[in-house]
Amino acid sequence: MADVIRCSRRYCGEPCRVDVDRVGRVTVTCEACERNRRGRCRDCPARLPDARSMRCRACAKRRRAALALPRDRARYPKRRRQVMARMAERRRTDAAYREHKRQYMALWRERNPRDDQHRAYGRVYMALRRQDPAYRDRQNARKRQLRAERKAVQHGVAA
Ligand SMILES: [Zn+2]
Ligand SMILES: [Zn+2]
Repeated sequence: MADVIRCSRRYCGEPCRVDVDRVGRVTVTCEACERNRRGRCRDCPARLPDARSMRCRACAKRRRAALALPRDRARYPKRRRQVMARMAERRRTDAAYREHKRQYMALWRERNPRDDQHRAYGRVYMALRRQDPAYRDRQNARKRQLRAERKAVQHGVAA
């Protein structure tokens, strides 16, 4: 009896509620699927935005975000680091690319003017990150390197 019965719908798999009535008949209900049938989100009491979706916008977004990172990490265990390093290198060296990114972000901000929640999250994230000594060391090393490169370029021009 200790086993949890899971919903048999392929996309679901949630643990179900098992009821036994007085005559001993067993009914198995999946509350998530029941909510869906009533037009509600699978994960919260919000109404569904349309008939085809299973989750409200916020829950769908949260779920996508929660699934994406571990999936990508599993898929590209070593390459991920290489790709990140290459992107960082490009941001560092390619001024045209940096400018392109800057314009794109400006456009994005124009189109999403009220994403205050996201910005608040970013502020907290960066504040926490700045407290990390390893992060500070990395940033300082980077600044030193950039300064040295700039100096080298100036000397090259002067010579
Ligand atoms: Zn279900
Ligand atoms: Zn929801």
